[in-house]
Amino acid sequence: MEITYLGHSAFKIEADGKIIFLDPWLGGPASPMTVDSVDDADICLVTHDHGDHGYSEAVEICKKTGAYFVAINELALKAKSAGVENVHTLNIGGSIDINGVVVTLVQAFHSCKIGSPTGFIIQLDSGTVYHAGDTGIFYDMKLFGDMYDIDIAMLPIGSYYTMSIKQASKATSLIRPKAVIPMHYNTFPVIETDPEEFRKLVSKESPESKVEVFDIGDTRDIAL
Ligand code: ZN
Repeated sequence: MEITYLGHSAFKIEADGKIIFLDPWLGGPASPMTVDSVDDADICLVTHDHGDHGYSEAVEICKKTGAYFVAINELALKAKSAGVENVHTLNIGGSIDINGVVVTLVQAFHSCKIGSPTGFIIQLDSGTVYHAGDTGIFYDMKLFGDMYDIDIAMLPIGSYYTMSIKQASKATSLIRPKAVIPMHYNTFPVIETDPEEFRKLVSKESPESKVEVFDIGDTRDIAL
């Protein structure tokens, strides 16, 4: 599974011949790509409507590529009204199989204007990814680990708006992924933090989970 970190909470996953964008804030200050540079996509997932999670960019990508836009019902309906053809209007707990990629919408504890904040569990043939969105820690993350056998967890660590390093490390111990990727840090002054501190804490609390710290623009083939 090839993962590219596009800064903040934005990722591109390439696996099993599919291209998936997560919270593609390509207008962000550090984004290594623009919407114009996206030629191909199959699915765009948006966790909530805050501007730093790429709703507008996801709409543009879906319009130009024909990709599916998936989000909570009210936000996905907004995308449909904005002209996106392929839309799935999930709600918490629901799943959809999009040509072999099973996307499940899960809760997150945060705020937003439209619908509710969410995370995603994405089941591909080559592995299962959990993107937590913006959230504080909650104990039900343990259920996600128990039920979905998560290979890769993408967790916010920047504090202020989301989990801190301390909470994200504890969350890792609840989810028990093979690999954990920190996100949502160092984009703004209030979320400045050192991902190496996260690495240190996880290696102490969850030594079986490998911390993958990405530089923005890095692509890695994560072996599972
Ligand atoms: Zn947010």
